[in-house]
Amino acid sequence: MYSFSNIITLQADLKAGKTSCTALVEQAIAAIAEKKHLNAFIEVFEASAKELAKKTDDKIKMGTAGRLAGVVIGLKDNICYKGHKVSASSKILEGFESLYSSTVVEKILAEDAIIIGRLNCDEFAMGSSNENSAFGNVLNPLNEKFVPGGSSGGSAVAVAANLCHVTLGSDTGGSIRQPASFTGTVGFKPTYGRVSRYGLIAYASSFDQIGPITKTVDDAAIILEIISGLDKNDNTSSSKKVENYSKEILTDKKYKIAYLKECVEAEGLDPEVKAAVLKQMEWLKSQGHTVEAVNFPYLEYLVPTYYVLTTAEASSNLSRFDGMHFGFRSKNATDLESTYKKSRAEGFGKEVKRRIMLGTFVLSAGYYDAYYSKGQKVRRVIRDKTNEILKNFDFILTPSTPGTAFEFGKNSADPIKMYLEDIFTVQANIAGIPAISVPCGKHSNGLPMGLQLMAGYFEEAKLLSLAAKIPNN
Ligand code: GLN
Repeated sequence: MYSFSNIITLQADLKAGKTSCTALVEQAIAAIAEKKHLNAFIEVFEASAKELAKKTDDKIKMGTAGRLAGVVIGLKDNICYKGHKVSASSKILEGFESLYSSTVVEKILAEDAIIIGRLNCDEFAMGSSNENSAFGNVLNPLNEKFVPGGSSGGSAVAVAANLCHVTLGSDTGGSIRQPASFTGTVGFKPTYGRVSRYGLIAYASSFDQIGPITKTVDDAAIILEIISGLDKNDNTSSSKKVENYSKEILTDKKYKIAYLKECVEAEGLDPEVKAAVLKQMEWLKSQGHTVEAVNFPYLEYLVPTYYVLTTAEASSNLSRFDGMHFGFRSKNATDLESTYKKSRAEGFGKEVKRRIMLGTFVLSAGYYDAYYSKGQKVRRVIRDKTNEILKNFDFILTPSTPGTAFEFGKNSADPIKMYLEDIFTVQANIAGIPAISVPCGKHSNGLPMGLQLMAGYFEEAKLLSLAAKIPNN
């Protein structure tokens, strides 16, 4: 059995004949079957994965294989892969097959990655615990009574439980970083516009970004380098040159790091998470970096701003799922109008409906100014303040989440409590800046904790270079 450590070592081992792509795919299929109860994978693309493995083994022999040869990658179930099913873990997309591949899929396939299957997530990426999936809960492999985080819960678990090497997730308000922090993996949310969103099922288009979940920061750098870049199919993708992240990661500079006083003093912050973050700050200082407290007076506005704006965008994006165009159609419908109504009523889950209603409300004529316009203005204030801090500092450091993974059912009856899970992660999406969560020691409950670093627009190279050096203790 091959024990995967990182992409670079895997490439060397494949070249040296220590393993083969076919063996790696078979190993992944066996591991997924063995850990089926974790419910991370919704579907294994067995036939196409085996075919890719065979082709790539030939390429390795000929010396023409790409940089991701043999890397077994899982996709969150909201990333399109031509000829394969995709459902955003929703009943409303039942039976739907992608008609084209997302740009990220094209890019990883061009480097000979092997896509192994699609991963469970919260329905339409709405959630923080993976309890909102039409396919059921995903279990945290570190303690199966606990949630894996969300919405990219399956993506985080697949990496943490060694079901595949790397996964792609999407992050609108923390959906890559929070599950990474709950499972002891590395989660990276790129700058808005760094990675094409073409072929990602939209939740909130001005917040969504695709990014990797990996075992190491080095692997995140490689994946990011490959999936980033301008795309003619996504007008919001940036033409800014993609740096050589896997080389830049070696940079060893002394940085100025800000931590947000309000975050560290936040009421709901677990004392052990706080202690772990303070310990990392001391370590950073001991390495010659400067760490200083700054004030961020808008902490309490982050979550409300995020939920007003993202639900507004979601209500618009999800209007296309009407029982006519895609997937599921109600059998109880009698005419066009009832097809729309019944298909949506039966096809969407509770949380998605809650957000569509909230979003429709904040966009409605009587409340648009009071909520949506106001939310946009507050977004600007938060963004300006964040940028002002990042003018004087290289990074902003926070815990990734207020606590560790929690038990199933603990927050699901109280949406506000669940939304507060996102308090530290949504700032990066509101501002559009890159952010990473890296493992940061173990809590006395045995579960991992996460440290978040944010940097300025398109400073992913710098962000990766510091993140790679953070010790996991
Ligand atoms: N937990 C957040 C939410 O429920 C973030 C979701 C995401 O990033 N897709 O909206």
